[in-house]
Amino acid sequence: MTLRRSGQGRPSPELRAAVFLDRDGTLIEDVGYLDRVEDIVFYPWTVDAVRALNRAGLPVVVVTNQAGVARGYFTEEFVEGAHREIAAHLARGGARIDAFYYCPHHPEGVVAAYAIRCDCRKPGAGMIERAARDLGIDPSRSFMVGDKWLDIGAARAAGARSILVRTGVGAKEEARPPVNLTADAIVNNLAEAASWILLQREVMNAKSRQIKSEI
Ligand SMILES: [Mg+2]
Ligand SMILES: [Zn+2]
Repeated sequence: MTLRRSGQGRPSPELRAAVFLDRDGTLIEDVGYLDRVEDIVFYPWTVDAVRALNRAGLPVVVVTNQAGVARGYFTEEFVEGAHREIAAHLARGGARIDAFYYCPHHPEGVVAAYAIRCDCRKPGAGMIERAARDLGIDPSRSFMVGDKWLDIGAARAAGARSILVRTGVGAKEEARPPVNLTADAIVNNLAEAASWILLQREVMNAKSRQIKSEI
Protein backbone atom coordinates (compact mmCIF):
# COMPACT_ATOMS: atom_id res chain seq x y z
CA MET A 1 0.00 0.00 0.00
CA THR A 2 1.35 3.39 -0.90
CA LEU A 3 0.53 6.40 1.17
CA ARG A 4 -0.90 9.18 -0.87
CA ARG A 5 -1.03 12.73 0.33
CA SER A 6 -4.49 14.16 0.09
CA GLY A 7 -3.26 17.61 -0.81
CA GLN A 8 -6.32 18.37 -2.89
CA GLY A 9 -8.63 17.50 0.00
CA ARG A 10 -9.95 14.53 -1.97
CA PRO A 11 -10.64 11.47 0.21
CA SER A 12 -8.16 8.63 -0.37
CA PRO A 13 -9.85 5.26 -0.02
CA GLU A 14 -6.69 3.62 1.42
CA LEU A 15 -6.37 6.08 4.28
CA ARG A 16 -8.41 6.07 7.45
CA ALA A 17 -10.59 8.68 9.05
CA ALA A 18 -9.56 9.61 12.59
CA VAL A 19 -10.57 11.86 15.45
CA PHE A 20 -8.05 14.41 16.68
CA LEU A 21 -8.62 15.69 20.21
CA ASP A 22 -7.25 18.71 21.96
CA ARG A 23 -6.16 17.83 25.51
CA ASP A 24 -6.70 20.66 28.02
CA GLY A 25 -10.30 21.86 28.16
CA THR A 26 -11.45 19.05 25.85
CA LEU A 27 -10.24 15.64 27.09
CA ILE A 28 -9.37 16.80 30.61
CA GLU A 29 -10.13 19.96 32.55
CA ASP A 30 -8.09 23.04 31.71
CA VAL A 31 -6.17 23.90 34.89
CA GLY A 32 -3.83 26.39 33.22
CA TYR A 33 -0.34 25.03 32.68
CA LEU A 34 -0.71 21.46 33.92
CA ASP A 35 2.53 20.80 35.81
CA ARG A 36 1.51 18.08 38.33
CA VAL A 37 -0.09 14.75 37.41
CA GLU A 38 -2.25 15.15 40.54
CA ASP A 39 -3.97 18.01 38.72
CA ILE A 40 -5.22 15.84 35.86
CA VAL A 41 -9.02 15.91 36.16
CA PHE A 42 -11.15 13.96 33.74
CA TYR A 43 -14.61 15.07 32.72
CA PRO A 44 -17.24 12.52 33.83
CA TRP A 45 -17.94 11.64 30.17
CA THR A 46 -14.37 11.43 28.84
CA VAL A 47 -13.83 7.67 29.12
CA ASP A 48 -17.22 6.80 27.58
CA ALA A 49 -16.74 9.27 24.73
CA VAL A 50 -13.29 7.97 23.79
CA ARG A 51 -14.46 4.36 24.05
CA ALA A 52 -17.41 5.10 21.73
CA LEU A 53 -14.98 6.45 19.12
CA ASN A 54 -12.70 3.42 19.62
CA ARG A 55 -15.64 1.06 19.06
CA ALA A 56 -16.51 2.84 15.83
CA GLY A 57 -13.02 1.94 14.59
CA LEU A 58 -11.80 5.53 14.55
CA PRO A 59 -8.22 6.14 15.66
CA VAL A 60 -8.21 8.75 18.45
CA VAL A 61 -5.19 11.04 18.44
CA VAL A 62 -4.41 13.78 20.96
CA VAL A 63 -2.79 16.93 19.53
CA THR A 64 -1.86 19.45 22.23
CA ASN A 65 0.09 22.70 22.46
CA GLN A 66 2.40 22.46 25.48
CA ALA A 67 4.18 25.80 25.41
CA GLY A 68 4.93 25.34 29.12
CA VAL A 69 7.98 23.38 27.94
CA ALA A 70 9.32 26.40 26.03
CA ARG A 71 8.41 28.64 28.96
CA GLY A 72 10.43 26.45 31.34
CA TYR A 73 7.43 25.46 33.49
CA PHE A 74 7.91 21.71 32.90
CA THR A 75 9.85 19.29 30.74
CA GLU A 76 9.00 17.07 27.80
CA GLU A 77 9.48 14.12 30.18
CA PHE A 78 6.72 15.56 32.36
CA VAL A 79 4.37 15.94 29.37
CA GLU A 80 5.04 12.34 28.36
CA GLY A 81 4.48 11.15 31.93
CA ALA A 82 1.16 13.01 32.05
CA HIS A 83 0.15 11.31 28.81
CA ARG A 84 0.99 7.91 30.31
CA GLU A 85 -1.29 8.78 33.27
CA ILE A 86 -4.09 9.80 30.93
CA ALA A 87 -3.65 6.62 28.88
CA ALA A 88 -3.68 4.46 32.03
CA HIS A 89 -6.88 6.10 33.33
CA LEU A 90 -8.60 5.56 29.99
CA ALA A 91 -7.38 1.96 29.78
CA ARG A 92 -9.01 1.21 33.14
CA GLY A 93 -12.31 2.20 31.50
CA GLY A 94 -11.64 0.24 28.31
CA ALA A 95 -10.80 3.33 26.26
CA ARG A 96 -7.68 4.06 24.21
CA ILE A 97 -5.81 7.02 22.76
CA ASP A 98 -3.96 5.71 19.69
CA ALA A 99 -1.24 8.37 19.79
CA PHE A 100 -0.30 11.60 21.56
CA TYR A 101 1.38 14.50 19.75
CA TYR A 102 2.43 17.68 21.53
CA CYS A 103 4.11 20.91 20.52
CA PRO A 104 6.69 22.01 23.13
CA HIS A 105 7.53 25.23 21.29
CA HIS A 106 6.70 28.89 21.67
CA PRO A 107 8.38 31.79 19.83
CA GLU A 108 8.63 33.72 23.13
CA GLY A 109 9.89 30.76 25.18
CA VAL A 110 12.81 31.10 27.59
CA VAL A 111 14.29 27.65 26.89
CA ALA A 112 16.38 28.32 23.80
CA ALA A 113 15.88 24.93 22.15
CA TYR A 114 12.10 25.41 22.15
CA ALA A 115 11.89 29.15 21.51
CA ILE A 116 11.16 28.82 17.83
CA ARG A 117 8.40 29.57 15.41
CA CYS A 118 7.47 25.99 14.51
CA ASP A 119 4.86 24.51 12.22
CA CYS A 120 3.41 22.17 14.84
CA ARG A 121 1.91 24.72 17.23
CA LYS A 122 -1.83 24.96 16.62
CA PRO A 123 -3.38 26.67 14.65
CA GLY A 124 -0.66 25.15 12.44
CA ALA A 125 -1.50 21.80 10.91
CA GLY A 126 1.90 20.22 11.71
CA MET A 127 0.77 17.78 14.40
CA ILE A 128 -2.25 16.58 12.41
CA GLU A 129 -0.14 16.17 9.28
CA ARG A 130 2.56 14.26 11.12
CA ALA A 131 0.02 11.95 12.74
CA ALA A 132 -1.59 11.44 9.33
CA ARG A 133 1.74 10.32 7.87
CA ASP A 134 2.62 8.12 10.85
CA LEU A 135 -0.74 6.41 11.15
CA GLY A 136 -2.10 6.34 7.60
CA ILE A 137 -4.85 8.87 8.24
CA ASP A 138 -6.65 11.02 5.70
CA PRO A 139 -7.22 14.41 7.37
CA SER A 140 -9.92 15.31 4.86
CA ARG A 141 -12.06 12.44 6.20
CA SER A 142 -11.19 13.23 9.83
CA PHE A 143 -12.44 15.38 12.69
CA MET A 144 -10.77 17.72 15.18
CA VAL A 145 -12.38 18.53 18.54
CA GLY A 146 -11.15 21.42 20.68
CA ASP A 147 -12.15 24.25 22.99
CA LYS A 148 -10.27 27.05 21.22
CA TRP A 149 -10.49 28.69 17.82
CA LEU A 150 -6.86 27.71 17.29
CA ASP A 151 -8.03 24.07 17.34
CA ILE A 152 -10.61 24.94 14.71
CA GLY A 153 -7.91 26.78 12.75
CA ALA A 154 -5.65 23.71 12.85
CA ALA A 155 -8.53 21.57 11.56
CA ARG A 156 -9.14 24.05 8.75
CA ALA A 157 -5.43 24.14 7.86
CA ALA A 158 -5.33 20.32 7.71
CA GLY A 159 -8.61 20.04 5.80
CA ALA A 160 -10.45 18.23 8.62
CA ARG A 161 -13.93 18.90 9.96
CA SER A 162 -13.99 20.78 13.25
CA ILE A 163 -16.05 20.72 16.43
CA LEU A 164 -15.78 23.40 19.12
CA VAL A 165 -16.71 22.22 22.62
CA ARG A 166 -17.98 24.63 25.30
CA THR A 167 -15.86 23.06 28.06
CA GLY A 168 -12.53 24.66 29.00
CA VAL A 169 -12.54 28.13 27.44
CA GLY A 170 -14.95 27.01 24.70
CA ALA A 171 -17.97 28.97 25.91
CA LYS A 172 -15.87 32.15 26.00
CA GLU A 173 -14.45 31.38 22.58
CA GLU A 174 -17.96 30.85 21.21
CA ALA A 175 -18.89 34.35 22.40
CA ARG A 176 -16.09 35.97 20.37
CA PRO A 177 -15.94 34.20 17.04
CA PRO A 178 -13.06 35.18 14.75
CA VAL A 179 -13.58 36.60 11.31
CA ASN A 180 -13.29 34.04 8.51
CA LEU A 181 -13.38 30.95 10.72
CA THR A 182 -16.34 28.81 11.69
CA ALA A 183 -16.64 25.38 13.25
CA ASP A 184 -18.67 22.65 11.59
CA ALA A 185 -20.40 22.12 14.93
CA ILE A 186 -20.44 23.73 18.38
CA VAL A 187 -21.51 21.38 21.16
CA ASN A 188 -21.44 21.28 24.95
CA ASN A 189 -18.68 18.73 25.51
CA LEU A 190 -16.67 15.79 24.21
CA ALA A 191 -19.58 13.37 24.68
CA GLU A 192 -21.75 15.45 22.34
CA ALA A 193 -18.84 15.85 19.94
CA ALA A 194 -18.42 12.06 19.77
CA SER A 195 -22.14 11.64 19.10
CA TRP A 196 -22.01 14.26 16.35
CA ILE A 197 -19.01 12.55 14.72
CA LEU A 198 -20.63 9.11 14.85
CA LEU A 199 -23.80 10.52 13.30
CA GLN A 200 -21.80 12.13 10.46
CA ARG A 201 -20.09 8.79 9.88
CA GLU A 202 -23.46 7.02 9.66
CA VAL A 203 -24.68 9.57 7.13
CA MET A 204 -21.50 9.20 5.05
CA ASN A 205 -21.66 5.40 5.18
CA ALA A 206 -25.31 5.41 4.17
CA LYS A 207 -24.47 7.65 1.21
CA SER A 208 -21.63 5.41 0.05
CA ARG A 209 -23.90 2.35 0.35
CA GLN A 210 -26.48 4.14 -1.73
CA ILE A 211 -23.92 5.06 -4.39
CA LYS A 212 -22.67 1.45 -4.50
CA SER A 213 -26.21 0.08 -4.88
CA GLU A 214 -26.90 2.51 -7.72
CA ILE A 215 -23.80 1.41 -9.66
MG1 LIG B 1 -7.71 23.34 24.92
ZN1 LIG C 1 5.89 23.19 17.75
